[in-house]
Amino acid sequence: MTAIVGDERGVIVECPSCHQKNRLSYSRLRDTTRCAKCKTTLSNVATPVEVSTAAEFDGLVASADIPVVVDFWAPWCGPCRMVAPEIAKVASRQAGRLLVVKVNTDEIQELGERLGIRSIPTMAVFSGGREVARTAGARPAAEIEAFVENAVRSVPSA
Ligand SMILES: [Zn+2]
Repeated sequence: MTAIVGDERGVIVECPSCHQKNRLSYSRLRDTTRCAKCKTTLSNVATPVEVSTAAEFDGLVASADIPVVVDFWAPWCGPCRMVAPEIAKVASRQAGRLLVVKVNTDEIQELGERLGIRSIPTMAVFSGGREVARTAGARPAAEIEAFVENAVRSVPSA
């Protein structure tokens, strides 16, 4: 499954035209950006971002200018595999409006423990630097979107 990577400050994307790596800052995910080298317009993040450290996760959640949906998963979890294509659909359909993030709870155990993730898959919505909703279990893309929309509507936007 395709996932892109980030660091503590932004998402790293490759320019489709010159293959230069560009960092899209978490605080400017709403905006369209141009490649630093060839000025090609880079599209909004449309695939899930695979987070690899707790520090990266914290940086992302603290500075994202759009709501963040986090899919907590692990490679051995069957329902998580069913959610993966659904969460990818959400990332593609909501590009520039929502950032979809994947956290492998086997790799970043610290994060799962700190957030009290008791079962997977669990999906959590973060807005304005804090968690606003959480749900456990697999569901189709449209239901994930409805869950997020509902969660975000109840709090002031980031
Ligand atoms: Zn370029």
